[in-house]
Amino acid sequence: MKKIEHIGIAVKDLTSSCKTYEQLLGVKHYKVELVASENVSTAFFQVGENKVELLEATSEQSAIHQFIQKRGEGIHHIAFAVDDIYAEMDRLRNEGFTLLNEQPKNGADNKLICFVHPKDANGVLIELCQEIKS
Ligand code: ZN
Repeated sequence: MKKIEHIGIAVKDLTSSCKTYEQLLGVKHYKVELVASENVSTAFFQVGENKVELLEATSEQSAIHQFIQKRGEGIHHIAFAVDDIYAEMDRLRNEGFTLLNEQPKNGADNKLICFVHPKDANGVLIELCQEIKS
């Protein structure tokens, strides 16, 4: 893995949370994106070479909705940039990690993504993400 790409934060209200994080970070979000497949609406902030992703559930089926019901708002996942997500998924499978999706899927911000089960990472949901080269 190359570096922490972003930290995902589960929020109840994207609009008000965007304002809070704009004030906190001193930068405006550069993108708001609906990820229909995940039932989330997201906003991204660039902070140096890393990003902060705010995630709001758009339906009760959303993992973000369930997360907030159980644990409240807060850090939801840490995402690591990888060069080759297929190779990294194979490597992690061979190491015995449980992947939450068998194939990479399309995530927000032009990325292929895969999640590693939090039970295998001391309670932290880990996301792998690879930039989609166009
Ligand atoms: Zn993410």
